[in-house]
Amino acid sequence: MSQSTESASIQEGSFRLRCGCGDTEGVAKNVTPRSGAHVKCYCEDCQTFARFLDTSGILDEYGGTRIFQLPPARVQITKGRENVRCIRLSPNGTYRFYTDCCRTPIGNMKGPRFPFIGLICAFMDTDESEVPGKCRGVFGKDAIGDPPGDVAESIPAGVALKAAGLLLWWWLRRGHRPNAFFDVEEGEVAVPVDIMSLEERDELRGRSG
Ligand SMILES: [Zn+2]
Ligand SMILES: [Zn+2]
Repeated sequence: MSQSTESASIQEGSFRLRCGCGDTEGVAKNVTPRSGAHVKCYCEDCQTFARFLDTSGILDEYGGTRIFQLPPARVQITKGRENVRCIRLSPNGTYRFYTDCCRTPIGNMKGPRFPFIGLICAFMDTDESEVPGKCRGVFGKDAIGDPPGDVAESIPAGVALKAAGLLLWWWLRRGHRPNAFFDVEEGEVAVPVDIMSLEERDELRGRSG
């Protein structure tokens, strides 16, 4: 019964998740300025991930990806879980999840016991302007050109401090479970995972040839 109530009405602070083609859906709960961090990441790896997906509308003109960081326990995939894939840009790289139905990015995670996911706003079925919290630019040193607004060279102290506080809080609350992306008990990715070759990575970064 609780399940049907949930799907019928979306709770306050919850956001519907939906890939570009609609075959993969989910929900992110308790997305509020206090409960997470809203950033735009200009780092080289996020840009490489977007180029790997080759999907328009992920990067802005300065190479920024809009992300909301929150505990994975608040992110559920409700439809098309079989479409979820993972790519790592190197053998020890961040786990980057996406859908293979239409190559929409889902989110980035450091590992199975890491209590937060950088949920990529392109997977949220909402206008970017509705994503809560003041958006801070991070890793502006990798940006293409000179992005406007509040952009730090790397991670500003305030953002790092907030992240550390949230991290501790989520860790204590066991924010990494339940987890749609990892088998937490086994410590393994719960979806098919690939590791990008160095050649492909360099090509995507425009370094080759
Ligand atoms: Zn899709
Ligand atoms: Zn990044």
